[in-house]
Amino acid sequence: MAAKNTVNQFRCQKKQRQSKQIEMLEAELEAKTKKPKENGRLLEGLSYEEEAKTEMGELSGVTYAKGYSGIDIDSRLKKALEREEFALYYQPIVDVASGKIIGMEALLRWYSSDLGMVCPDHFISLTEKTGLIIPIGEWVLYKACSRYKAWQEAGYPPLRLAVNMSAVQLQDTGFVPMVEKVLKETGINPNHLELEITESAVLYNLDYAKNAIKKLRAMGIGISIDDFGIGYSSLEYLNRLPVSSIKIHKSFIESLEMNSSSKTIVSAIIAMAHKLGLEVIAEGVERHEQLNFLRKEKCHYFQGFLCSPPLPAVKFEKSFLSVSL
Ligand code: C2E
Ligand code: MG
Ligand code: MG
Repeated sequence: MAAKNTVNQFRCQKKQRQSKQIEMLEAELEAKTKKPKENGRLLEGLSYEEEAKTEMGELSGVTYAKGYSGIDIDSRLKKALEREEFALYYQPIVDVASGKIIGMEALLRWYSSDLGMVCPDHFISLTEKTGLIIPIGEWVLYKACSRYKAWQEAGYPPLRLAVNMSAVQLQDTGFVPMVEKVLKETGINPNHLELEITESAVLYNLDYAKNAIKKLRAMGIGISIDDFGIGYSSLEYLNRLPVSSIKIHKSFIESLEMNSSSKTIVSAIIAMAHKLGLEVIAEGVERHEQLNFLRKEKCHYFQGFLCSPPLPAVKFEKSFLSVSL
């Protein structure tokens, strides 16, 4: 009944809209996405397989969101924080040699009340341009650290918590004090936190970033270069920033079996990480063959659908934390 009302309401709103394109996209969304409010709780009702598909963009509001202009998305994003439309998913980070879970990465999801689920690749870069990444990034860190603390208090083992941060955040003067404040308020051990520098924006001022990273490292926080091998200037970052780990971009892992140059590149990145005394994590591992290759090359850790897609906190806890007690 409630679901029917929501659908009717949705149809009414739809009639009021002018743009044909938007109407078409809404119809597509209605058919393809499950809205959180219809399901009561976020993603409740989606099967594991559907969630995995959602992670791959198949059920997400991606196509729909693409049809909107930046202005539409921007004004919706501004309200999203107030409306609590964001959520964090968690994906396990696994030790290649032992198969044990050593940590988790928090990944942002936006359940827009009118766009459906939008994946971060489709809105992070816009928030970087408008500066909205600053409050959103703070929300993400606070939320992830609070959740981590609650898991610690529940007696779960002290795993690593990886949180993405934009290059834009790293160049904001308020960033390091914000991290200090969040750590203090949530009471988590900084040695368990790893901040990943994502590649969606360029680090214009490497000297400033270097200073900020030094301060974070001095606090005990780990810093990794995300999506290593693609994007702006991975090697320069590596050369100039005091990072503790690198994450090999999933495109290299995806093409491991098809492309012999990918094998060479992945082996070289792993060997380079070893020589530099850095930890190395492979992203996007989906098949045993890929994992076998990484094991042979002595890659430290991996993430990927082979173990699990990113999961809502409660599901992550049930699947990976409570079983470890
Ligand atoms: P990332 O940090 O490199 O995260 C890995 C992405 O690969 C995630 O996409 C994850 O869902 C996806 N993935 C994991 N395993 C597999 C696999 O086996 N196969 C494939 N094909 N994909 C896999 P997601 O969650 O859509 O995030 C995309 C990007 O958005 C992230 O890439 C990160 O750069 C950015 N992002 C996510 N959350 C945040 C955030 O809180 N802050 C910032 N600044 N950026 C974020
Ligand atoms: Mg990441
Ligand atoms: Mg990555």
